[in-house]
Amino acid sequence: MRYLSTRGGITPLPFCQTVLAGLAEDGGLFLPERIPVLSEEDLRSWARLSYPELAFRVFSLFVDDLPPEDLYQLVERSYRTFTHPEVTPVVRKGPLWILELFHGPTLAFKDVALQFLGNLFEYLLLRSGEKLNILGATSGDTGSAAIYGVRGKKNMAIFILHPHGRVSPVQALQMTTVTDPNVFNLAIQGTFDHCQAIVKRLFSDLEFKRRYRLGAVNSINWARVMAQIVYYLWAYFRVSEAEGKERVRFSVPTGNFGDIFAGYLARRMLAGRIERLILATNENDILTRFVEKGDYSVREVVPTISPSMDIQVASNFERYLYYLWDGDTARVRQAMERFAREGRLRFSEEEVRRVQEDFLSRSVSQEETLATIRAFYQETGYILDPHTAVGVRAALEFADPEVPTISLATAHPAKFPQAVARALGFEPPVPEPLRDLGTRPRKVVILPARVEAVRRFIEEHAL
Ligand SMILES: *Cc1c(COP(=O)(O)O)cnc(C)c1O
Repeated sequence: MRYLSTRGGITPLPFCQTVLAGLAEDGGLFLPERIPVLSEEDLRSWARLSYPELAFRVFSLFVDDLPPEDLYQLVERSYRTFTHPEVTPVVRKGPLWILELFHGPTLAFKDVALQFLGNLFEYLLLRSGEKLNILGATSGDTGSAAIYGVRGKKNMAIFILHPHGRVSPVQALQMTTVTDPNVFNLAIQGTFDHCQAIVKRLFSDLEFKRRYRLGAVNSINWARVMAQIVYYLWAYFRVSEAEGKERVRFSVPTGNFGDIFAGYLARRMLAGRIERLILATNENDILTRFVEKGDYSVREVVPTISPSMDIQVASNFERYLYYLWDGDTARVRQAMERFAREGRLRFSEEEVRRVQEDFLSRSVSQEETLATIRAFYQETGYILDPHTAVGVRAALEFADPEVPTISLATAHPAKFPQAVARALGFEPPVPEPLRDLGTRPRKVVILPARVEAVRRFIEEHAL
């Protein structure tokens, strides 16, 4: 399988080259040249595989430039760090199925992709003898999942900037209690926007970027999308068998369109057995406006109690446009250039009709999110985190007795104790991995919000 760019400006590349590059050279995103569709035989035999076995089969459809034994080992090692024997179990709660994606080391769904990506990067770097310094900014979940993906890996270091005193206490502790020599937490005396601006400036200094071999692990990396396809298939097999139904729906709390785009690919691979995907947003509703009215226009980011979805420009959206426009890369490129200038795209009625064949969508307010946490707990005894609650609320509103709905649980509720306490009047029980965080040694450096300070730190500590 080779990978093309959504903007059409590159010669298609094999899988391994897309992983280290992240973004295509023409500024587009990588996509496989075709989407494999599972045969009846695959559907029968894959339904009983363990999670790592299934992941290996799925990856093998997309990866043909790694020895299969090595790929299997990478997969096996990546999912051994999950505390649940089924990796991503599906549980029935009230009228819904909940796909629990939070049994990884940082208790959020990003571990599913980043545990694999960390191992894959290390493998590719050891093979080529290269070194890589990962640089990123975080306001929460991505940073800790990336750190846990890279900690202790050979030939790699990671520098993660977070706004000092402005990330949730649990998230700050999750990051700063990782003391491995290749992990550098930089607490910046400023806001998340300052952190992002500094990272952007350093990446745009091409000489610096090359000299210190800077790389990223952001959600546009194809390997992350690929890793997320697996749990859609996994959950499909479990729920369609338990319910005796051929078709299911998924409800996905969405920010950067990464997770739900993996669901879109799974839907194509399952030849429509995923009836539709419910795209759930919080008050940052650009994607809901897109699905409902064909209006993809940027507004101010509103901070909410589901912060990992406080996003206006969805970085994976471009991938969906490629399919919506039947692979017309010139059109994707023009649209993305226009969007960069004007901050908006408009879609025709005909396009909206086609989008609505793939997605249902709902924007859920903070009041509704809190009410959903409360009602769902009263009815089922199950505690939802605020991101998951956004997806559950949308799932309940679109409920269809003929089509079982699987709602993705993207974080453990103990990561967001304040929001849960606002809804329920008490904080959720603290699970084992978070219990002694406060007493562990910490490793963090406080730096002023200046590019030069961060640049100097990287010069002194990069591999
Ligand atoms: C990142 C994140 C999301 C959003 O996922 P996208 O791939 O950006 O759509 C939802 N919930 C949680 C808890 C997250 O960390």
